[in-house]
Amino acid sequence: MFKKVLIANRGEIALRIHRACQEMGIRTVAVHSTADTAAMHVRLADESVCIGPPAARDSYLNIPAILSAAAITGAEAVHPGYGFLSENANFAEMVEAHGLAFIGPTAAHIRMMGDKIAAKDAMRRLGVPLVPGSLGELATLDEARAVAEEVMYPVLIKAAAGGGGRGMKVARNADEIEEAWRVARTESKAAFGNDAVYLEKYLDRPRHIELQVMADGHGNVVHFGERDCSLQRRHQKLVEEAGSPVLTAADRDALGAQVTRALKELGYRNAGTLEFLWQDGQFCFIEMNTRLQVEHPVTEMVCGVDLVKEQLRVAAGEPLGYTQEDVRFYGHAIECRITAEDPDTFAPSPGRVAMYHAPGGLGVRVDSALYSGYAVPPHYDSLVAKLVVHAATRPEAIARMRRSLAEMVVDGIKTTLPLHRAIMDAPQFVSGDYTIHWLEQFVAGRQP
Ligand code: ADP
Repeated sequence: MFKKVLIANRGEIALRIHRACQEMGIRTVAVHSTADTAAMHVRLADESVCIGPPAARDSYLNIPAILSAAAITGAEAVHPGYGFLSENANFAEMVEAHGLAFIGPTAAHIRMMGDKIAAKDAMRRLGVPLVPGSLGELATLDEARAVAEEVMYPVLIKAAAGGGGRGMKVARNADEIEEAWRVARTESKAAFGNDAVYLEKYLDRPRHIELQVMADGHGNVVHFGERDCSLQRRHQKLVEEAGSPVLTAADRDALGAQVTRALKELGYRNAGTLEFLWQDGQFCFIEMNTRLQVEHPVTEMVCGVDLVKEQLRVAAGEPLGYTQEDVRFYGHAIECRITAEDPDTFAPSPGRVAMYHAPGGLGVRVDSALYSGYAVPPHYDSLVAKLVVHAATRPEAIARMRRSLAEMVVDGIKTTLPLHRAIMDAPQFVSGDYTIHWLEQFVAGRQP
């Protein structure tokens, strides 16, 4: 096992990785920008290196600075967390070229899945069902029109390089396709430097259901069940659950068998998540994330597994040492993503946290880098805490989440805590009967 790991990230996920390392007797190196000198991940790590000014492109995305930090401190491996460089194939390649282990998949698999057209093509060849749409990149507007007629409106024009819910435009009918085509391409070019787009049928009432997998690169692949991430705003997840309120154990087993078979054939290694839209009992693959996900804790709670420790073991060359039959699911888990934003307008609300009090008790987990007096910097993602609860049943988990949200205090900045309290009380959420479009309407209905 590694003796020292560099964590190329910040905030709650840097802490999450640090905690797994500490319990395994691995020393940690934090990297940080000048805006994060007082951050919790820097305070807790065994060593820390300042890698640049506040702007992420000069610090957390600064590959030469991160590699230098690894060289100076003698780290043997790099964990990228999520976001930042976690899905940058060039980074993974450079880490390995410097003789370090990259705690993630191979650069080739990161590259393949980072191009959503290539990812869909690979999954189609492996027999995984897809959302109906174009077979590859759309070369012309005429081609987009032809495919849209074939799969029938409404359709979605999506960026091949898209991510974070960006680079996606709906065309409800033939009059809207030209505009959607133009805007999706322009936005994609600006955000990702690539204007390749493809087309999918826009599903009107799906749920977002994803499957967590872990592979050791020696031919062993297991899945840790599904997460239901249907509560989204602007295609971004706000609340996640494990398992899905709409799937049976048999549905999970069938999807799991199909996905693990596909990834075995692909020769995949380390953690990964396959995202699907589920409608009328059908799963349609949309993309694969080749990294640890923000919402991984709900899976950990129901499976009793530490996914970061598994990532570290696999990256060090160890076999999984267990099979699918050894993976057990118990109870229900829910995660609320608490961000430093106005709960009604979603305007960012960075600044000093006057008082922070985390909830506790049986089945409650808080992944957060907050502390009283900490100043949330304006330069990065607004996620400040993940509140996760686990209980025997979904109704008990909801009750536990309500009381945990009631106990939690983050004073001095605005957070989305009030919105999460309202979601937990909404009859539609409680019933479990909603689609990916429900939360958007619920949020709109709350506007003052
Ligand atoms: P990103 O990589 O930007 O997150 P995804 O392809 O994962 O993009 O899609 C993000 C979200 O957008 C999905 O969870 C879903 O809510 C919505 N979405 C994506 N594709 C479709 C589709 N074909 N029909 C309806 N909604 C979609």
